[in-house]
Amino acid sequence: MKLPDQGITRQELISHMQALRAYDADWQNGNTFSLVYYAGEEVIQVAKEAYTMFFSENGLNPMAFPSLKKFESEVIAMTARMLGGDDDTVGNMTSGGTDSILMAVKTARDMARAEHPEITVPEMVIPSSVHAAFLKAASYFDVKPIRVPVASDFRADVAAMAKAVNKNTILLVGSAPCYPYGVVDPIEELSALALKHNINFHVDACLGGFLLPFLRQLGLPIPRFDFSLPGVTSMSADIHKYGYAAKGASTVLYRNKSIRQYQYTIVSDWSGGIYASPSAAGTRPGGAIAAAWAVMNFLGAEGYRKLASQIKETTQALKEGIKTIPGLYVLGEPDMSVFAFGSDSLDVYALGDEMDVRGWYLDRQQLPPSLHLMITPAHAGIVDRFLTDLAEAVNGLRQGQPQATNGSAALYGMLAQSPDPVITKEFIRGLMDGLTQI
Ligand SMILES: *Cc1c(COP(=O)(O)O)cnc(C)c1O
Repeated sequence: MKLPDQGITRQELISHMQALRAYDADWQNGNTFSLVYYAGEEVIQVAKEAYTMFFSENGLNPMAFPSLKKFESEVIAMTARMLGGDDDTVGNMTSGGTDSILMAVKTARDMARAEHPEITVPEMVIPSSVHAAFLKAASYFDVKPIRVPVASDFRADVAAMAKAVNKNTILLVGSAPCYPYGVVDPIEELSALALKHNINFHVDACLGGFLLPFLRQLGLPIPRFDFSLPGVTSMSADIHKYGYAAKGASTVLYRNKSIRQYQYTIVSDWSGGIYASPSAAGTRPGGAIAAAWAVMNFLGAEGYRKLASQIKETTQALKEGIKTIPGLYVLGEPDMSVFAFGSDSLDVYALGDEMDVRGWYLDRQQLPPSLHLMITPAHAGIVDRFLTDLAEAVNGLRQGQPQATNGSAALYGMLAQSPDPVITKEFIRGLMDGLTQI
């Protein structure tokens, strides 16, 4: 396919695009459990209006657009305050959680380079449950990841992490909560470990940053996880997740400026002029910055609390319902609205395929095999329908009458039988090439 010689009309274009959408995941009705964090039409309208209002503006140069500068500063200040920060806390908006994590790892690496030149092979000690973005960062920035298996409760194993710390360690990581199991790591103990060794400690609150504070206000026993703990040096919190902003909005925060300085890139002898950039991006969409500011101000703490309350009820009902289905169990004791369930008697991938047939899309996880749910306000009305379908799918499998003809069970079965990680990676690369091909 090549660029059309002549453009097509706006009308044709829109109707073609509408038609293509027909096969996309149906997130508005709560049939998906990842990718979209939906807080209702009004919030979407606010985000869209703000986004399109600043559609063309560029956050690259804050001097040209003082409005964007104000939005970003206020978003950072509000987020920092929500996460136990004080007047010294600083940060930046980024394009997403991965971007924030990349920045935090790069900052820790460059800080160690400046302050500990004796470290030639920097290492970071991470629980096995941290987001894959940390492995991306490790590979991009050449920091050796030391992956420490989580404890039996699926939380970071602090004693094992302490053992993994050595003179090359530049960074510890904990999650609040981690994506696979939705449990908050023992951040207080990790904070003490970081202080003891005088190393940086990043808390990944990409998922929980905009939800845990409100669940705590509603009375849930949320453990301490933020800057109120003195060993925490940086945090990430995504506004495009439970902040309900438009996609392309996250925050990376630092305890103070003297840490954040290592995030900056400054090129003073470029032909294009003095170029200073705080984070990875050059051009930055003004829309994403404006929409984040708008949604945060539209909802306010009260709005976020109301949504959190809805999520709390829905999560509780789904967890309880799943536990009553024979053979299914919830992994660990999830602290928030994200959790996984497994089975001691069924192939959960086959169960996932059965749920696909019934119009639900559940993410597949491994180590151990499980299905993943991420609850948003969109799921308030689906609990009964979901649990009925799940029980029916379980029964169908037990009776040897699956409805799905192929799906993830075959893929995961094959991967499980391929002990050679190189073959596995080759295979997955092939799949990815397939996905990006037209
Ligand atoms: C989503 C997520 C990330 C990555 O965020 P993206 O916005 O997808 O790049 C990192 N950490 C956790 C815990 C997450 O849930």
